[in-house]
Parts: sequence; C-alpha cells; structure tokens
Amino acid sequence: MTEGNELIRAEGVGRSFASRRTSMWSATEAVQAVVDVSIGIRRGETFGLVGESGSGKSTLGRIMLGMMKPTQGRVLWHGTDLAGLDPAERAGFRRRVQMIFQDPLGNLDPRMRVLAQVREALDIHAEGTPEERKRKALATLASVGIDENLAQRYPHQLSGGQQQRVVIARAIILDPDLVICDEPVSALDVSVQAQVLNLLSRLQAELGLAYLFISHDLAVVRYICHRIAVLYLGRIVEEAETEALFAEPRHPYTRALIRSVPVADPAARRKREVLQGELPDPGSLPPGCAFATRCSLATDRCRAEAPALQTDSDGHAVACHLVETAGTRA
Ligand code: SF4
Repeated sequence: MTEGNELIRAEGVGRSFASRRTSMWSATEAVQAVVDVSIGIRRGETFGLVGESGSGKSTLGRIMLGMMKPTQGRVLWHGTDLAGLDPAERAGFRRRVQMIFQDPLGNLDPRMRVLAQVREALDIHAEGTPEERKRKALATLASVGIDENLAQRYPHQLSGGQQQRVVIARAIILDPDLVICDEPVSALDVSVQAQVLNLLSRLQAELGLAYLFISHDLAVVRYICHRIAVLYLGRIVEEAETEALFAEPRHPYTRALIRSVPVADPAARRKREVLQGELPDPGSLPPGCAFATRCSLATDRCRAEAPALQTDSDGHAVACHLVETAGTRA
C-alpha cells in the first residue's frame, strides 16, 4: 500500500458494543464488531469490503465516515487523526467524504422534489447564487442520467434505479474525494445493478473519486473493486488486489465464499460449494482462529492460537496458520 497517496487509513481500528445475555444471572458483555482492522484507501481507487451479514463491514464503514467512534485504534484523514480535527477541519472532512446507502427511498425526503434535495447541500453551504445552485444541481443530475423532467418529480415517482441515481447525485454534488458505498446496488434488480455500477465507474474516471465499496456480493465487488479485504467476524482474514484474490484465494473462508457464488455453467455448477454453518455468536467465541468452527482444515493449533495477518511482498495478506496448505488447495 502506497501510504503517501492515501486519502484515509484505519489504523488498528476496533469497535465493541455492550450486549446483554438472555439469562437474568448473566452480566452485560462486550461484543467485538470490528477487531484490529488496518486498511488504507488511495485517491481514485475502489476498495472493497466483503463478508457475510454480521461481519462488521458496515460498522467499519461508519467508523471511517466519522459517524461512529472506534473503541480501539484511529482513523487518519490525509494523515491526521479524525478525533483531533478542529471544527473547521471536521466540516471539510464531512464535505470531502460522502455516503451512499442501500435503500435509496429511505434516504430521500419523500416531501421534497428531487431537484430541491440535490440542491440542498449547495444551499446549506450558500454556494453561489440560487440560479447557479439550480444549474449545478441540474448538471449533476444530468451527469447521473436524471433529466430535467425527472428532476421535478418526488422520489416515489421514480424507479429504484432512478432513486439511487438521485442519491449518487446528492453524494457527488459537493465534489467529494471519497464516497462510502454501503451495499449500493443490493436493493436493485440485477439488470439495474449493472447500470448503477457502470455509472459509479464512469463517475470515478471523470471525477477521480475513491470508493469504499461495502458488499456481501462477490460478483459485484469483483466487477468494481481494485482491491478487496475479506472480513470475518470483524477481522480481516485476507486482503489483496482483486485479480490476485480471485485467481489465488488463500484463506479457507475466501475460497468458500468464492466457491459458493452461483454460476451459470452447469459443469462448473457441480463444483460449487456452500459455506457450511452460520456465523458463530461473536459474544461467545472460543479462543483461537475465529473461523475454526466452520473450517474443514482446522487443527488443534487453530483452536488455541489466533493467526496473525501476514502480508507477502505483493501486498497479499492472509490470516491463516495453514496458508501454505490452503494455498495449494488441499
Ligand atoms: Fe482454518 Fe486454521 Fe486457517 Fe483458521 S487458521 S482458517 S481454522 S486452517
């Protein structure tokens, strides 16, 4: 990772939440949603966070957006700790980092016409004259494929894909450097998903945006991301350039995830593997490797000692005691 070109870096970030046991005799316990995560995102790249529901990827996204404080570690924005930003710097950070959520309709005001809510951020910052703000909002909407006619409508009068385009327009109108995309196409039809992913790619090329792209869908992250971190119970178990991750997945969890993706080819379908079991309760994990309860390669050492994340000279990082064995597809 070229740290000099980084916009943002999570450094040893952890986040725990208080959770109550169901029994009246039991005490409140801390559940670790994110554990010692370090990632960096460079200008103009798409960094993917992938994992099952409950893997901590959305929590990590909110921490990097500054919406949630980490309980361990820190987040650096251009090398400066978010926690140490003064009010003016924090306002600048909020402008440079935007977010797109999964449910577009839930993130639009049902009582405001589309044009007004895309223009709103410019109004809040009192940028230019009202006429200039309107022109910029219309131009931004046009750049995401929403014409002037659609801009005069209310959100419920648009399709799901059009609504998500409006959300994207709102996210980019202040010229951010980084957009955190949390499952941005999961609620859309498959045919519309490709259109929105292509739009995000085009905007990245035109505007030099970086994306933190959060998804449970490996096909989607493979399509759009340059680099991917695989999260399991809040821990990074593997991180690599996208091509390397799919060409040579090294962690047993990554390999199971990739093999569980449905494929159209009937011959290939026979090789498909379904990931066994559910995520264990993060509040009562046994010692050792967090994946051991679902890993067919687990040994006594795995059940006693948590593996460290080891990075090779190509920047391919894996946390597995048997990575050599796993890498040779045992
Ligand atoms: Fe499986 Fe052991 Fe590797 Fe964990 S450390 S993924 S249990 S082989």
